[in-house]
Amino acid sequence: DIDPLNVCTIDVVAGEGARVLAFAPGLDDAFYEHDGQITKREVRALTLSALEPRHGELLWDIGAGSGSIGIEWMLCDTSLRAIAIEQSSERVQRIARNAAAFGVPALAVVQGLAPQVLQSLPEPDAIFVGGGGSEDGVMEAAIAALKSGGRLVANAVTLEMDAKLLALHTTLGGSLTRIDISRAGAIGAMTGWRPAMPVTQWHWVK
Ligand code: SAH
Repeated sequence: DIDPLNVCTIDVVAGEGARVLAFAPGLDDAFYEHDGQITKREVRALTLSALEPRHGELLWDIGAGSGSIGIEWMLCDTSLRAIAIEQSSERVQRIARNAAAFGVPALAVVQGLAPQVLQSLPEPDAIFVGGGGSEDGVMEAAIAALKSGGRLVANAVTLEMDAKLLALHTTLGGSLTRIDISRAGAIGAMTGWRPAMPVTQWHWVK
């Protein structure tokens, strides 16, 4: 029960240059420090939707890159936890900087190579595979580690990963979605569609 006489409101006015973050996932790519290896905002929004964050859950973000998926997972609700797994030490440091800048310093970052590094991590409720999925044993380890009832979402931009996801879909089911995004850009004085690489997304509930 809320005592109406005891309620106060605080107006927060963003200072000059402050970043005002929207509630919905799929934040502008420009908010992130990245080296080009980032899940683009439209694909990121669809990925967070497919991951279906629920109260208190833990996400593994395998091949975390800039950390954008784990960061937006944690921004959904303060009860959510995430572990970013990334092989590159340079990117690991970038993930920590992005997490601090987005106000989610509790994002755990593990440097190492999947699948080996996954063994010692706590059991996840959801897993995103954004990198390394076509390497031997990575998808198998993710599938084995996932809690019963948990969601696995994997994005492919290479034919090798595409083939892997098709095979998994054939044996385990789930759904396959192809995401084709084009953004309008200048062609001389006119405007044309600039397609991004198509992404194949596999969504599976264990
Ligand atoms: N979803 C990320 C982009 C991922 S790019 C974002 O939004 O920023 C793919 C990443 O996977 C790269 O940073 C690459 O270094 C990492 N990667 C590839 N294979 C890996 C492996 N076996 N273990 C850990 N990281 C891996």
